[in-house]
Amino acid sequence: MTTDCLFCKIVNGNIPATTIYEDDDVIVFNDIKPMAKTHFLIVPKCHIESLKSCEEAHQQLLGKMLLLAPKLAAEQGLKGFKTLINTGREGGQEVFHIHVHVFGGGLPDA
Ligand code: AMP
Ligand code: ZN
Repeated sequence: MTTDCLFCKIVNGNIPATTIYEDDDVIVFNDIKPMAKTHFLIVPKCHIESLKSCEEAHQQLLGKMLLLAPKLAAEQGLKGFKTLINTGREGGQEVFHIHVHVFGGGLPDA
């Protein structure tokens, strides 16, 4: 937990979010500024800054996050979807707590 991290605050319930899935390891909520009809974020509950800070110990968690994408996309009624992990400021990352974007329903071919 990093006290000034936005997504840690959502994990801890200090900032509200529209949660669509939660378990012991991850929380999934709708993006506040959706870039597609469906746009949600798969976020680990532990604070990991970015894909660059991931280590072998995170392998299972990363796999779990990816496997949740098709499951939750199907639950949202999507036949296909896009995923995105922005990494580093130069990679477009704005919130430095790793997350997988899932987009669908409003993008070409999604
Ligand atoms: P990134 O650029 O990959 O770090 O993406 C950060 C994402 O977090 C952006 O798409 C934001 O719209 C989203 N975001 C920022 N604040 C919130 C919030 N309070 N609840 C949900 N999503 C948020
Ligand atoms: Zn965090």
